[in-house]
Amino acid sequence: MEENKHIAISVIIPIYNESAIIEELYNRLKNNVLKISQNYELIFVNDGSRDNSLEELIKLTQIDKNIKYINFSRNFGHQIAVTAGLDACIGDAVVIIDGDLQDPPELIPELYAKHKEGFEVVYAKRSKRNGESYLKKITANLFYRILKKITYVDIPVDTGDFRIIDKKIVNYLRKMPEQNKFLRGQIAWLGFKQTHIMFERDERKHGQTGYSFAKMMRFAMDGITGFSDEPLLFVSRLGLFFSFISFVIIAYALYSHFVLLRTITGWTSLIISTMFIGGVQLISVGIIGEYISRINKNINNRPLYIIGDTNIETDASKP
Ligand code: UDP
Ligand code: MG
Repeated sequence: MEENKHIAISVIIPIYNESAIIEELYNRLKNNVLKISQNYELIFVNDGSRDNSLEELIKLTQIDKNIKYINFSRNFGHQIAVTAGLDACIGDAVVIIDGDLQDPPELIPELYAKHKEGFEVVYAKRSKRNGESYLKKITANLFYRILKKITYVDIPVDTGDFRIIDKKIVNYLRKMPEQNKFLRGQIAWLGFKQTHIMFERDERKHGQTGYSFAKMMRFAMDGITGFSDEPLLFVSRLGLFFSFISFVIIAYALYSHFVLLRTITGWTSLIISTMFIGGVQLISVGIIGEYISRINKNINNRPLYIIGDTNIETDASKP
C-alpha cells in the first residue's frame, strides 16, 4: 500500500487565493525536490481560498500521485494551515514554505543539505525583503526586535516559517496542542540543533497578501502572549508606580488641608489625573484580557481546523 512507502521529504504549502501561480509553484517545487529524492510528498493545504485554487490543486493530484491536498471548510489562517500539514506529513524531513513563491523553492536542496549535516532545524533567514511596503518592513522589524527582547526563548529575527525540520521536531509539535499557534516560537522553544541559511526574499508575483493588518496584529499578539509574561509584569510595575505617586499626592493634599489650612482648588488637575489613570487602567485591563482570551480559547478546546475533503487516507489527517 501507498501508506507504507517511505517518504524522504515532505513539503507543506499553505494556499490562500494563489490559483494564478499554483502551476509554476508545483513545477518549481517538484524540480527541486526531485534533486533530493524520488520519494517525496507535496502537501497543499487550501485554507478557504475564494478563487479556484482548490480546482487547480485537484487537477494536479490527477497528474502526480505525490501530491496531497487538504481542503479546509473555511479560512482558518496560515499557522493553522501549516499545522494541518504537519499533522498529515510522513516524511523524514519536512519543509514548510509559503505558497506565493516569496520563498524560492530553489533553496530547498540547500536547506536539505544543511539538515543532513546534522541540524534538526534549518531556517531561511531573510537578508532582504523585496517588494514589500515600508510599513510592513518597519512593523515587522520592530515586532521581531521587541519579541526578541521580551520572550524567554530565542526566536530568530527576520525569519518566517520557511525552513526544513526533522521528523523528530514534527512529532513534538504534534504534542503541543495550543490553539494560538506561533510555530516559529514553538520550534525555537523545542531546542535541538538549529541553524540558518541566508536568502533574499522575493516579491509576491500575483495577488496580494493574505495577511490583513488585523491578522498580522493577532499573529503578533499570539507570538507575544505565547512566549512572554513581560506585558503582565509591565502592567503590575505600572500599577505600583502610579500607586506610589498617588500616595505622595494624597499625603501632600492632607498636609495642606489640615496643617496649612489651605485647600487646593482645581478642576483641571483633577480631570487630567482622572482621565490619565482611567486610560492606564483600561490599557492594563486590555493586556490582561489578551491573556484571558487565550486561556478561554484553550479551554474551549475545539478542533484546530475542520477538513472539508482531502485525498489523504490516514487517520493523521483527521483532527
Ligand atoms: N495564507 C493562508 N491563510 C491565510 C493567509 C495566508 O494559508 O489566511 C498563506 C498564503 O497563501 C501564503 C502564506 O500563507 O502561502 C503566506 O501568506 P502571505 O503571503 O499572504 O503573507 P505575507 O508574505 O504577506 O506575510
Ligand atoms: Mg507572502
